[in-house]
Amino acid sequence: MPIAEIKGFLLDMDGVLYHGERALPHAAEFMRLVSGRPHCFITNNPVLPPARVAEKLARLGIAKVDAAAIVTSAQATAAWLARQKADFRYFAVGGEGLHEALAAVGREDAEKAEFVVVGEGALDFEAIVTGINLIFDNDARLVGTNPDSSVDAFRDGRHVVLPGGGALIAPFAEATGRQPIFIGKPNAPLYEMALARLGLAAGECMMIGDRPDTDIVGAQRLGMKTALVRSGRFRPGEPLPDGMAPPDIDVTDLERLASVLREQWGVSGSSWCDSP
Ligand SMILES: [Mg+2]
Repeated sequence: MPIAEIKGFLLDMDGVLYHGERALPHAAEFMRLVSGRPHCFITNNPVLPPARVAEKLARLGIAKVDAAAIVTSAQATAAWLARQKADFRYFAVGGEGLHEALAAVGREDAEKAEFVVVGEGALDFEAIVTGINLIFDNDARLVGTNPDSSVDAFRDGRHVVLPGGGALIAPFAEATGRQPIFIGKPNAPLYEMALARLGLAAGECMMIGDRPDTDIVGAQRLGMKTALVRSGRFRPGEPLPDGMAPPDIDVTDLERLASVLREQWGVSGSSWCDSP
């Protein structure tokens, strides 16, 4: 499907629409441009529940959206687990968003869990002990919300790097020799949950993201159109990872992406996105 006929959008947020507590330039204008088409926000971050993410988008002045427009890796993990087994039992390590998503469809049970689920957040030695013994004794499956090795965060206004879901699940995998199953980008379940909410096929949608190795590669595998915005960790001029196909659109920021879309859609106008 040509870009001009794209019916809907999946948008990554961190590095595309905001950094920490700061909206990126033109984020609100960009959202106004695409708001006439179906769209969903998807994030590998399993920590915040969707309602809190929606509050953040509103607080930063980016968009006023319903929590249902936001799909987190925690929600996709809960939905995936419910498909494996109805009324499943789990032991989970992670933040509020993960516990809330899992409790809606499964039962927390540190004695008989069938799944050990690892997200992002405080991880202590006893949780690792519980998790690895559930894997050994109950043959519990090890499931990670997202494979990111590290994530960007801000503390007291300063940028810090935190271990991501891929790093935090490593002690469980190493101690047991089991390979975790990851649900978040670049794997399919997170995109598929968002596409199902939009009622659109992958080929009808475009993924907009700032990370080639996760956002873009995962969307390409599903046959989505892709737009890389180099406003996050991946900077202008940086070469794409070896072996990956280039995204359909590769731009420095949302202003440039808006220009490309307006050109494709034949939208004229004299607004900000026509400026050089
Ligand atoms: Mg991002």
